[in-house]
Amino acid sequence: MFKAVIISKDEAGQHAALEEISKSKLPEGDVTVRVQCSTLNYKDALAITGKGPVVRKFPMIPGIDLAGIVEQSDHPEFRIGDNVVLNGWGVGEAHWGGFAEYARLKGDWLIPLEPAFSPEQAMSIGTAGYTAMLCVMALERHGIAPESGEILVTGAAGGVGSIAIAILARLGYTVVAMTGRSSTMAEYLQALGASRIIDRGNYGEHGKPLVKEQWAGAVDVVGGQVLANVCAAMKYRGVVAACGLAGGMSFPATVAPFILRGVTLAGIDSVMCPKAERIEAWQRLARHLDPAVLSSMTQSIALTDVFPASERLVAGAIRGRLIVPISSN
Ligand code: NDP
Repeated sequence: MFKAVIISKDEAGQHAALEEISKSKLPEGDVTVRVQCSTLNYKDALAITGKGPVVRKFPMIPGIDLAGIVEQSDHPEFRIGDNVVLNGWGVGEAHWGGFAEYARLKGDWLIPLEPAFSPEQAMSIGTAGYTAMLCVMALERHGIAPESGEILVTGAAGGVGSIAIAILARLGYTVVAMTGRSSTMAEYLQALGASRIIDRGNYGEHGKPLVKEQWAGAVDVVGGQVLANVCAAMKYRGVVAACGLAGGMSFPATVAPFILRGVTLAGIDSVMCPKAERIEAWQRLARHLDPAVLSSMTQSIALTDVFPASERLVAGAIRGRLIVPISSN
């Protein structure tokens, strides 16, 4: 038997609870992993609270990320005792995920844990941090360099935003952090490396198709009207890496920034991202993320705490990252 968070659904709706289940119930897969640590991402919080249509099969063990040790493997790349990391691939949505003592997975989904990181540090990064790195790589791929100008990061005090600021600052970019919590988060965001903080204020309200050119690049986790207004304020040939929908799924923009300023809107998806790009992102995280900065943005919670923490995360009330240690040996 092993402990797991289970989301089930009946006539009364969706419920999430900590339960004990038999290892014989683990889904198909060629690698069994003893989970050492997981982490609470925005998507996990939507799954656990039922506030977003994340879970595609019931019952489901949520947790889109995990770090652990291979306990059994029929996959040629992995042996018993290997340290591995999993991010995405529909795990925690359509295949049982990381909020459990054990997971059975496809070896093709796993990557080796970067030697620079402990399982806890890897989960402190998690999908949020690996996505932040994919955003930075997209800016670079489209020619944005530190001398191009200021980079705006929206949803700055959240998981993706916090790590994007830390990476960009470490790479020498001038980072402007946009937050809805400027009165309480300014010191935190400056310590991560933001050169200045701006309040989200009326960025969420309908704006003009084009406004004064301000940003050479942007990492946007908010979507909706904020993303439309970010696009309208990009410099000529600026690049926006769009990865999130914390403020909404819509995109009420015009084509003006794209056809008059040559702005690029680069879409970022971490879930099905090819393995080679994932490995590159994790190797670069190992090089460009200061472990002290990472620990300053991370809090640890127990598996039993994921329920209240999910409510707070969806409400935008968590700072940085939450890890969920599961087994220590
Ligand atoms: P967090 O909850 O940690 O952070 C989101 C931040 O967005 C909040 O801290 C807040 O920033 C801001 N925010 C929250 N609600 C609103 C709102 N209603 N309007 C405007 N801003 C808001 O989430 P993550 O950083 O982990 O994820 C951010 C987004 O990125 C999510 O939508 C998530 O689904 C998406 N994502 C997408 C991935 C992909 O593969 N494309 C992978 C990972 C995440 P502040 O406190 O500074 O105001």
